[in-house]
Amino acid sequence: MRQPRILIIYTGGTIGMIEDIETHALRPFDFTHLIDNVPKVKMLEYVIDNIQFNPPIDSSDMSIEHWKQMTRHIADNYDKYDGFVVLHGTDTMAYTASALSFMLEGLTKPVIITGSQLPIGEVRTDGEENLITALQIAAARDSDGLPMIREVAILFENYLWRGNRSTKRSADNFNAFKSNNYPALAKIGLGIDFDRKVLARPDHTTPLKANYNLDQSVLVVDLFPGLSETTLRHSLETPGIKGVVMRTYGAGNGPTASWFINAIADAVKRGIIILNVTQCVNGSVHATRYVSGDILSTTGVLSGHDITFEAAITKMMFLFGQKLSHDEVLLGLTTPICGEMTVK
Ligand code: ASP
Repeated sequence: MRQPRILIIYTGGTIGMIEDIETHALRPFDFTHLIDNVPKVKMLEYVIDNIQFNPPIDSSDMSIEHWKQMTRHIADNYDKYDGFVVLHGTDTMAYTASALSFMLEGLTKPVIITGSQLPIGEVRTDGEENLITALQIAAARDSDGLPMIREVAILFENYLWRGNRSTKRSADNFNAFKSNNYPALAKIGLGIDFDRKVLARPDHTTPLKANYNLDQSVLVVDLFPGLSETTLRHSLETPGIKGVVMRTYGAGNGPTASWFINAIADAVKRGIIILNVTQCVNGSVHATRYVSGDILSTTGVLSGHDITFEAAITKMMFLFGQKLSHDEVLLGLTTPICGEMTVK
């Protein structure tokens, strides 16, 4: 068996940060510092190469340009490596995982994103274990000899999650991520226990197609009791906006007041695409369960089913970036592309 070949893409994040001497605040530092703190990596006997962002960033600074860079690094090196490990800050990790899942169309190799809550230089760091486990997952093979993971996934502490189903759920806990509407792809304990029934098994014969165009003409409207007509109309009339992810109550419900329904219906008539996503951490939009959701759906608002906000907003940017017709975007938003939602 030849040695697994893994490419690490270091973007920054707490995992590689050090304390600023003057302010004591954490700031990103270079990859040599990071890897020097994990000498155990050598015990894996893999061929490991790396590319680092220059400069490495706190993931709060993540942008579409950074996603393009990651996509390019993976696409340009796709045939040379068995798997990819992306080291990333936790703050926007779920957005990056979602975006990459759409940008890397036809992916059949592992792209494992990880990071840590404590910097690698700290005695109790979770970074060492996360990095080593991510490398092992990126190198893992199924009984058919193909990669065990053939999608973008987030590895954090005890779980491997589908990337476009994940959400950061804790700023303090080592188990910082969760996929509330999809089972874990693997549980990490004494071993790495993959749940084969929930792993993506895309057609292995289609080549990778890297999509670099994302369109930023999107925004979010978050419902809350007290939202005014002026604020709502102002948001929906933002110049240049093509799509809105609307975070609604419970099973996809919103106010039944005519000022609200009319503002939404007017926006839809102007050609704005509105995707209904629930504010609940778990569960799905069921537009017709309550009158309040039913009325909303008559305006032409689309159901986002059980998609996360992170996947919804990046999917919109992706679809608008593909120069599709209005109807093709509508169809794309209501159809799962790479396991990001369940349509019952
Ligand atoms: N602010 C950091 C980041 O997202 C937090 C972390 O990595 O955990 O880059």
